[in-house]
Amino acid sequence: MKRDSVSQALASALGELVREDILELKAYHVAPATGMVKLDAMENPYGLPPDLREAVGAVAASLPLNRYPNPNAPELKARLREAFALPADMGLLLGNGSDEIITMIAQTLARPGAVMLAPEPSFAMYRMNAIYSRMRYVGVPLAADFSLDVGAFLEAMQAHRPALIFIAYPNNPTGNAYAEAEVLRILDAATGFVVLDEAYHAFAGKSFMDRIAQYPNLMVMRTVSKLGLAGIRLGYAVARSEWIEQFDKLRPPYNVNVMTQFVAEKVLSRLDVLTLQAERIKAERAKLFAALATFKGLEAFPSEANFILVRVADANKTYGEMQARGVLIRNLHGGHPLLDQCLRLTVGTPEENQRLLEALQESV
Ligand SMILES: *Cc1c(COP(=O)(O)O)cnc(C)c1O
Repeated sequence: MKRDSVSQALASALGELVREDILELKAYHVAPATGMVKLDAMENPYGLPPDLREAVGAVAASLPLNRYPNPNAPELKARLREAFALPADMGLLLGNGSDEIITMIAQTLARPGAVMLAPEPSFAMYRMNAIYSRMRYVGVPLAADFSLDVGAFLEAMQAHRPALIFIAYPNNPTGNAYAEAEVLRILDAATGFVVLDEAYHAFAGKSFMDRIAQYPNLMVMRTVSKLGLAGIRLGYAVARSEWIEQFDKLRPPYNVNVMTQFVAEKVLSRLDVLTLQAERIKAERAKLFAALATFKGLEAFPSEANFILVRVADANKTYGEMQARGVLIRNLHGGHPLLDQCLRLTVGTPEENQRLLEALQESV
């Protein structure tokens, strides 16, 4: 084919073959961060201590990289169960990040016409996965102070009979954990499957893990990403094994690779290191919040996660000026009406937070 006809044939093939809803989607955007103070993605800013790094290096050196991983990751599962005191009588599902677990659940429950329900604004991947799996997504707006509008949520449950409900607890990007009694009202009323996404568990110290025994259709999902291991991509979810068996059918057999399995096992044998870092982050969160509270022209929202949501006069302008000053944060303006003029600040090291505050002072 001639060059012109090749590009014409490509354009028409894309237009004819790619699903229309995928053509319309925008890919998940990650801002370039080289040389920046990176406070946009809720990463733990502290690396591993030297002795643990060396131990990880020794593990990596001894791995059989020529072999497929064990698809069931029994050692890692045992380590997770022990480290996080997971209920022994429940099933455990591992994902290449909890993102992959969201995908497996949505695909499993995506019967024709099935509805996914979630409070809004919340984690963007819920809605994305509804689109991928062709579930009908229904978002229920939070109250203006980002608390749950339980009445509206229960009404939406009545009206749409959702097969799947996602509740991030604490919520991303708002940082608050809803009142426990309100979440329980939702669990009591739910006829579908409910996932409590506890990605920020380490910073909240609250959990619904103990409630799984009480609710047959409840899953508690977590990740090691925010705890300090975002790079190895490991999420885990706990629910009755009857549920896990079904989701497991959609799991790519080698989804948790050899490096992840063995490095996670090693690092989680020293969970105390990560827990201590989480405690430091919580202490820094309190300091950062107190400092932000003194700013004029800025409203900071209380957080039980490792980030703080703020509202400024002109989010686009502040975001741009922060970026020019070498501090990368997340601009949420335009993403949802409730996030009007909002920016999300990840809690960093004391030095990073100082630079954040200085840059913010000059930018609001
Ligand atoms: C970050 C985040 C996740 C994704 O975690 P990974 O395990 O890194 O895929 C899931 N849910 C919420 C609410 C998050 O903020």
